[in-house]
Amino acid sequence: MAEKTVLSVAIDGPGGAGKSTVAKAAAKELGLIYVDTGALYRAVGVNALRNKLDTKDEKAIKKMLKTTNVELKYIDGVQHVFLNDEDVSTEIRTPDASMAASDVSAIQIVRDFLFDTQRNIAKKNNCIMDGRDIATVVLPDAQVKIFLTASAEVRAQRRFLELQQKGSTDTYEKVLEELKQRDYQDSHREIAPLKPAEDSIIVDTSEMPLDESIRTVVNLIKEKM
Ligand code: C5P
Repeated sequence: MAEKTVLSVAIDGPGGAGKSTVAKAAAKELGLIYVDTGALYRAVGVNALRNKLDTKDEKAIKKMLKTTNVELKYIDGVQHVFLNDEDVSTEIRTPDASMAASDVSAIQIVRDFLFDTQRNIAKKNNCIMDGRDIATVVLPDAQVKIFLTASAEVRAQRRFLELQQKGSTDTYEKVLEELKQRDYQDSHREIAPLKPAEDSIIVDTSEMPLDESIRTVVNLIKEKM
């Protein structure tokens, strides 16, 4: 078997666990590319919303994919997601886009549609990729596999503060409810459910300040570099 020359780090976990913040900081410190795969599912979800489709309607989504192009580009080292050549990096961050992403991501054809994009980036670059099924499906050979998690309440509190800073008026209770619904949907779906791989290291950040979470992840990666 050919020796693997690129470094792949898989970080999976539920929404709000701090995956993107931790992965971004670790990638910067270690000189790796950060790939946020949720952005791809969010872009497909946003396209479905724009077309006023039922985001759980497999047939309609399948048809939509024929005219959907989703790409990741790096501008000044920052990931941007493009939907049919339009930068939708901001639009994909709304709570509606989160639920739409969770809905469309349960459809196999959507996962297949986005698979090569993810694999091709990891083939060519040393990267930290975050998502739900990176260690289990997308990069099962990743040298480092981390499952980053935290209690639903702590995650909802973080998400709530993040949304507030963006001017959202959603209550903590609403954020917690949506997060629990998305957790349930993501971990109970038949295809690529959210779960750690057998060899994933579980990092629970419920009681960890951000800098400690980053340090923990950086150290785990450094051990393999
Ligand atoms: O990580 P983020 O919250 O942006 O992901 C949005 C949604 O996309 C998740 O709730 C999940 O349903 C889906 N997703 C996925 N597989 C991934 C990344 C995200 O199914 N690798």
